[in-house]
Amino acid sequence: MQRISAKSTSWEIYSGLRTRGPLVVRADGRGFKKVLEESIKPYDIDFARSMASVVESFFLDFGPTPALAFTFSDEISLVFLDAPFAGRVEKIDSLVASFLSAALSLDLCRLVSMDCRTIPLCQAEICSYLAERQDEAWRNHIFSYGFYMLREDGLNGTQAMEKLLGLKESEIHELVFQRGINLAKSPAWERRGVMVYRKNGRVAVDWEIPLFSSQEGKALLAEIMGLAKAGSKR
Ligand SMILES: [Mg+2]
Repeated sequence: MQRISAKSTSWEIYSGLRTRGPLVVRADGRGFKKVLEESIKPYDIDFARSMASVVESFFLDFGPTPALAFTFSDEISLVFLDAPFAGRVEKIDSLVASFLSAALSLDLCRLVSMDCRTIPLCQAEICSYLAERQDEAWRNHIFSYGFYMLREDGLNGTQAMEKLLGLKESEIHELVFQRGINLAKSPAWERRGVMVYRKNGRVAVDWEIPLFSSQEGKALLAEIMGLAKAGSKR
């Protein structure tokens, strides 16, 4: 008798997309404006510590280990030199997003979710990608200080946003400076984000990273990626 198998898999929508390494998997918080309603503005060190600790757990417990990770605000970029899960994009995106969402929910003691996308790059583009995200961290930094300062002045969210959109970056900088805050001197993690990588066999969280576009930044990235590559071949 011929055996008839239940072909439930034929109902699934599955793209079967695959990617090669190097690649970045970037996770982003969903609806974090609400999650961060009660947090200190514009920057909450406790939330930043939660994000950093979630990335640290990713290195320790996820399985496939990235060469390095960069986080600011509610986003995390994980740089993999080799594609995990044989490059299966749906597998990568869903497992990374679920691990990070679960880890962050445990850390914050509330349910949160993150989404994920995969960004295939060549080795030479990794530096530029990270520099681009770091530029975004800087813009975010200036904008956030400006926004919450205007809110303190009594403007509502829409008014503050409208005012900021009409100003140049240097003008927001000046506006905040007049209130005694020099944005060039705020904590490095607020301006430049936080990096996580393996150092001397341990997972290190670096709160004082250089600009990725500087010589110092490029040299540090090259060193970390070189060590990660050597480690993966051992
Ligand atoms: Mg978000």
